Amino acid sequence: MDFVYNANPSRVIFGAGSRAKVAEELDRLGIERAIVISTPDQSGLAAEIAKAIGGRAGIMYPGAVQHAPVEVTESALMAVSSVRADGCLAIGGGSTTGLSKAIAYRTDLPQLVIPTTFAGSEMTPILGQTEAGRKTTVSDPKILPETVIYDPELTVTMPSFISGPSGMNAIAHSVEALYAKDRNPIISMMAEASIRALGGALPTLMDDPSNLHAHSEALYGAWLAGVCLGAVGMAIHHKICHTLGGTFNLNHADIHALMIPYTSAYNRDAAPEAMASIARALGTVDGPTGIYQLTQRAASKRSLAEMGLTEADLDTAADIALQNPYYNPRPVTREGVRDMLQAAFEGRAP
Ligand code: NAD
Repeated sequence: MDFVYNANPSRVIFGAGSRAKVAEELDRLGIERAIVISTPDQSGLAAEIAKAIGGRAGIMYPGAVQHAPVEVTESALMAVSSVRADGCLAIGGGSTTGLSKAIAYRTDLPQLVIPTTFAGSEMTPILGQTEAGRKTTVSDPKILPETVIYDPELTVTMPSFISGPSGMNAIAHSVEALYAKDRNPIISMMAEASIRALGGALPTLMDDPSNLHAHSEALYGAWLAGVCLGAVGMAIHHKICHTLGGTFNLNHADIHALMIPYTSAYNRDAAPEAMASIARALGTVDGPTGIYQLTQRAASKRSLAEMGLTEADLDTAADIALQNPYYNPRPVTREGVRDMLQAAFEGRAP
């Protein structure tokens, strides 16, 4: 064995009803006047939590949007200065966490994040932001949230068309961690456990969206997936999803959910140990087939055609995906990527 293991320091409080500990956790971080961040859709929930913490909620900022546009961050920074906020309290999915991270990156303010989707961003020191339509990514220890409260009572409100793809997005982090160049035994253990938890919970969530036990399992899996994403490098799946998402302005979780059967199948022969781990976690003979079966239940979009792409778009995407060379267990070739995109375009079993 030969590996490097780097742990990202963060404090995690997990459990149904654990949002009741927000005030206590803000105190622990020394936050007296937080900027309370949410999307417009989740401003009601943010207001409820703000009410519970009284004066510690310095200012509300219900303006988070997808991909952390720099203009939004600048406007939120003005809100921070207006009350001399001394910390961020983010309540929401990856977009809300993204705004909190963007503020922390620029100010080094401490962050308390309460995730309400399975995106996993709260466990990573990575910030993706957009400026003039261009997405760039930075990694910095200041970006990693100090404390995260996982309360499955808050993911229960996700409609199935959000929770299913969000769970598959988390599975994608874990799948790629299993064949990462810098993988290590601890992260691989977490990745397999994450796929097992999410693979077991997602079908139940699709049939019974308010099942709290299944939400708890899925959120546990999402936490582990976030740790994996923050600890090791990603490969063809994340590269192709960024390419497709950025070029054709597609929903983040939907494109991850649609592509993961195909990207994992691309690496089927080149990463046999990872495939065995996925198959064990899902109780199937073949890993990518197990993932495909899961997407048939959990993904909102089942083909690139359904997402509005044309066959000509596949050529463009294949060209862009090859532009910056990156690690992947199977060499990334124009023909291989184009064939993979064709299968995803048609939505056929990989
Ligand atoms: P999101 O945060 O954009 O949320 C999608 C929608 O669902 C929003 O309208 C939101 O208000 C709503 N929503 C969230 N939770 C809900 C709930 N419990 N009930 C009802 N509605 C709810 O989506 P996401 O997939 O969580 O995050 C996507 C963003 O996160 C992207 O910008 C992506 O790039 C980023 N991301 C970053 C990282 C990282 O490590 N940097 C990791 C994963 C995702």
